[in-house]
Amino acid sequence: MLGRAAEIDSSALRAVVTLQAIRGHQAELQAIANANGGNRAEGTSGFNASLDYVADQLFAAGYAVTIESFDTTANLIAELPGSDDRLVIVGAHLDSVSSGPGIQDNGSGSAAILEIALQMKALNIESVNRVRFVWWSGEETSSHGVLSHVLNMSMSEREAALYLNFDMIGSPNFVRFVYDGDSSDSVTVNPAGSEKIEAVFLDYFAGQGLATKATDFSEHQALPIFRIAGIPVGGLFAGAFAIKTTDEAAIFGGTAGDQHDPCHHLACDTFANVSLEVLDQFSDAAAHAVLYFALTSIVEERLADLISTVRGLVIPSKDGLSAKLDAALTAVEAGNERAAMNILRAFINQVEAKRRSGGLSNAEADALVATAQIIIDSLS
Ligand SMILES: [Zn+2]
Repeated sequence: MLGRAAEIDSSALRAVVTLQAIRGHQAELQAIANANGGNRAEGTSGFNASLDYVADQLFAAGYAVTIESFDTTANLIAELPGSDDRLVIVGAHLDSVSSGPGIQDNGSGSAAILEIALQMKALNIESVNRVRFVWWSGEETSSHGVLSHVLNMSMSEREAALYLNFDMIGSPNFVRFVYDGDSSDSVTVNPAGSEKIEAVFLDYFAGQGLATKATDFSEHQALPIFRIAGIPVGGLFAGAFAIKTTDEAAIFGGTAGDQHDPCHHLACDTFANVSLEVLDQFSDAAAHAVLYFALTSIVEERLADLISTVRGLVIPSKDGLSAKLDAALTAVEAGNERAAMNILRAFINQVEAKRRSGGLSNAEADALVATAQIIIDSLS
């Protein structure tokens, strides 16, 4: 039961989120740019046609599509219904810079989350949690798209939300960057829960035998706004204007001394500006993470974390504690919440008994009881 990520089987979804379909969406975005003066920037006909294209695709798949207007432009939103206890926001900015068509930045992320949304619908996946796909406008200019959205969220939505960002996931001279949710490799402090998002990605890539590198959030305008709102953030990024190091080239291939994306924000950011290898790998990883957070309830995740904590305790005879938590998780997964609450109360009693007998320190017992009580409260 260590690590819930391993228990979500995303292979069926990944099998139908194909590189070919994602490239098809990118080809459409390129054609739109070609027909609209070479770009798809906020406030232009190229952006509006891009928004229409994504909206038509979603509508045809059976989504209700919402337009969120701000300034003179709009974000596009489509949702899968689920519990309000967890709101999984999956975002990619759809606008390009005015100097180019933006097919990698960010046609790549836009196309990937579009195909994930379409295929989750096609597979009739019944999401446990509410999933909100958003295509942002205004990212390359003001960040007002993300700002408007976060300001429009209710307090309870903000408390339930996490944000997955997919921006530039097909960079030709790529590095497999995963956002550093636990701040182990960067100074940016992220909202609690961000470490969980990073762990889901790292577990996935480890299972695929693919190396990754941590990155902070500095090159992405969408993320600081969510972070300031206290919403856990994470995501993938294949690189932009930074120069590939020799260390990176040794691990990921490509050319040291060149930018990760030599066409970043330039007219040459076209359909041809891509690494098919990383686009394929990252779109699969994105599908996995979206599915993981769609299907894992907050209660299951807290229980799984508590099970890991108990397993990590260096104390004698903790089998009874572990067995109770395993039974509680089984009950939750079977939808038997009353049984789960009773088992968790028995767990708390056993923790208190171990505290009295000296088998657990006060600090250990306090932490276990507090977490178990949070889970009981969220079940009742
Ligand atoms: Zn971007």
